[in-house]
Amino acid sequence: MPRKVSIFGATGSIGQSTLDLIARDPSAYDVVALTGGRNLDQLAADAVRLGAKRAVTCYDSHYHDLKNRLSGTGIEVAAGANALEDAAMMPADWTMSAIIGAAGLVPGMRALEQGNTLALANKETLVCAGPLVLEQAQKHNATLMPVDSEHSAVFQALVGEDISAVERIIITASGGAFRDWPMDKLANATLAQASSHPNWDMGQRITIDSASMFNKALEVIETHEYFDVTPDQIEVLVHPESMVHALVGFNDGALMAHLGAPDMRHAIGYALNHPNREKLPVERLDLAKLGALTFKAPDEVRYPALRLARQVMDMGGLAGAAFNAAKERALDAFIAGDIGFLQMADVVEATLAQMSSADGLENATLSLDNVLQIDQLARVRAAEIMNTSLV
Ligand code: NDP
Repeated sequence: MPRKVSIFGATGSIGQSTLDLIARDPSAYDVVALTGGRNLDQLAADAVRLGAKRAVTCYDSHYHDLKNRLSGTGIEVAAGANALEDAAMMPADWTMSAIIGAAGLVPGMRALEQGNTLALANKETLVCAGPLVLEQAQKHNATLMPVDSEHSAVFQALVGEDISAVERIIITASGGAFRDWPMDKLANATLAQASSHPNWDMGQRITIDSASMFNKALEVIETHEYFDVTPDQIEVLVHPESMVHALVGFNDGALMAHLGAPDMRHAIGYALNHPNREKLPVERLDLAKLGALTFKAPDEVRYPALRLARQVMDMGGLAGAAFNAAKERALDAFIAGDIGFLQMADVVEATLAQMSSADGLENATLSLDNVLQIDQLARVRAAEIMNTSLV
C-alpha cells in the first residue's frame, strides 16, 4: 500500500528536497496535501506531477490564481491559514513540516493530532512551544522525527542508547557567510552578502540566520526541548566544512559523531524511511580526499544570538516564542533594508528585556493561545523598538 504523505512548505528548499525523494519512487506514495505560499507555479506544477489530492496556498488572496492554474485537474484547491489547518487534518501517514517561521506551529500541532509521523524541519515549532508539542505528540501517540541535520544526527547517534548516559550534545555550525570577516566590517554587511551560504543551499531566511547564528541559537533551544537535556549539556562547535553535523558525548567519555555531505536529503530521507535505512541519492564522503576537518569554539561577541539562546532557555515559559518572533521581525527589517546586520541581535535583546519585565514571559502559562498572542506581541514590541531607535 502506498504511504499517504503531506508536505507543508512544499515550494521551499526543504519541501523541494522532500519532493525530490518522493518523486524517485512515485508508486510508494500517495500525495495528500502540498502547501506553499507565493510560488504558485511551483505548487501547481508539483501538485499535478505528483497527483496531489489538495494544493493549498497560505495566502487567501492567491486562491483564484491557484484555482485557475489547477482548473480541470481534479485537484482540490484551498487558501489561507484555516485551509492549512484543514489540510493538516487530512489523513496522512507521514507529514513534512517545512513551512518557514512560527507559521509552521499550528499546522504541525494539527498534524500531530492525527497520531502519525510528523517530520519536523520547522525548528520554530519546538522553540516556540516545545513542551506543548511533545505533549501533543504523546497524547495522540504520534511520532516526531527531527529533520534539522544536527538533530537528525543526534537522534541517529542515540539509537540504542540511554539518554541518561548522555553527558553532552555538541551541534556544529558552519559559521555562516561571515565567519572569517573582521568584526568591524559586519555592521555594513549587505543583504546579498548575508544571503550566500558557504556550504548549504537553503532558503534565504535561514541562510541569513546562519550568518548571524540565530539559526544555531534556535537549534540550541530545539536540542534542549527535543532531547530533554539541560542548557549546560549543549555545546556549539564551529566546523567550517559542515561534514560532522553533531556529536553525542556519553558518561564513559565516548563521543559519537555523525558525518555526511551537507545535503538535507540525508536527514529528510532518514525521517522518511525510519526505522529503515534506504539508499539515498547523496554524495558519499571521501575522507582521505578531504584530508582534514577543523573545529573551533564559537565567539559569542561575534555571535550574540548564542548568548541570547542561553538567556531564553534560562527564562523558560514564553521566552522562546518571544525570541523567535522578535528575530523574525528583525529579519524582516534587515531584508527590507531598515536595519543593519548587527542590529538584528540588538532588537531581539531589547525586545526580550522589555517583555521580560512588562509581559512576564517567564511566568506565563504555556498554552497554544498564549504562544500565539506572545508571538504577535513580540513582533509589535520589536517594531516599536526599531521605530523609536532604541537600538
Ligand atoms: P523556504 O523559505 O525555502 O520555504 C518556506 C516554505 O514555507 C515555502 O513553501 C513558502 O512558500 C512557505 N511559506 C512562507 N511563508 C509562509 C506562511 N506564512 N505560512 C505558510 N507557508 C509559508 O524555507 P526552508 O525550506 O529553507 O526552511 C523551512 C523550514 O525548515 C524552516 O523552519 C527552516 O529553519 C528549516 N530548515 C531548513 C533547512 C534548509 O536546508 N533549508 C535545514 C534545516 C531546517 P512560498 O515559497 O511558495 O512563498
